[in-house]
Amino acid sequence: MFDLSVDLAPFEAGTVWLVGAGPGDPGLLSLLALHGLRHADHVICDALVDARIIALARPGAVVEAMGKRGGLESVPQSDITARLVELARQGVRVLRLKGGDPFVFGRGPEEALALAAAGIPFRVVPGITAGIGGLAYAGIPVTSRDTNSAVAFVTGHGADGELPDEFDWDSLARGAPVMVFYMGLKHLDRLAARLLAAGRRPDEPVAVVCRAATPDQTVLESRLGSVAADVAAAGLKPPAVVVLGGVVALRDRLDWWIPS
Ligand code: SAH
Repeated sequence: MFDLSVDLAPFEAGTVWLVGAGPGDPGLLSLLALHGLRHADHVICDALVDARIIALARPGAVVEAMGKRGGLESVPQSDITARLVELARQGVRVLRLKGGDPFVFGRGPEEALALAAAGIPFRVVPGITAGIGGLAYAGIPVTSRDTNSAVAFVTGHGADGELPDEFDWDSLARGAPVMVFYMGLKHLDRLAARLLAAGRRPDEPVAVVCRAATPDQTVLESRLGSVAADVAAAGLKPPAVVVLGGVVALRDRLDWWIPS
């Protein structure tokens, strides 16, 4: 077992840890995340967290599922934050476990703001986000010196469930040589059309990485002009990250990981 004798922060009673679980592989948890899981009284996990990670919780800890997935089932966000506050006020060590990084398209900020407003002490334990670590498991670096010195992370699903429209798509599409989309499958046809309308080339390489860093990882390589049809034909389902740009072409040499 791990020697966790390094000096890690104590998990104080009545506090909430917002912990990133990474994209899937339990080996991608941080030491602090594992330490938190070993000491929490109550773990509230969202739908994207791998069962092998939840199984690392301290025996005797209460594990409760509360989360969202692609708008299917829905525990209202206000119920989740109310639960965190309620438990912390009872003196419970609460670990809120979220897929990837809690502060990347994950509603972590809303939960942290609610805790701050309620005066509950909290800690954020960053995790490896799907749009970086998940792509690495598919052999795709988000930057490489020869292809791009900038990258944009974009959600394909705004707060109202539609393609987000509060930023300037044309500028972003012109300015970001590599774009990584979270929650991009639902509106992939519109997303691709939007990028083409903004001047991205139809032959630009795209990869769709489903269930990255899990035993079920699948990767579809395509082109911007055909990706929506290819994803539909392959019947791919979320969670998936979609990446557009020259880095995708590195995968033919960097595809190192064989899911077991
Ligand atoms: N906080 C998370 C993102 C939550 S939003 C993070 O930092 O990774 C949910 C979206 O994340 C999914 O729709 C998908 O786009 C992406 N995602 C999360 N885990 C994933 C995985 N294992 N494989 C592929 N995409 C994943």
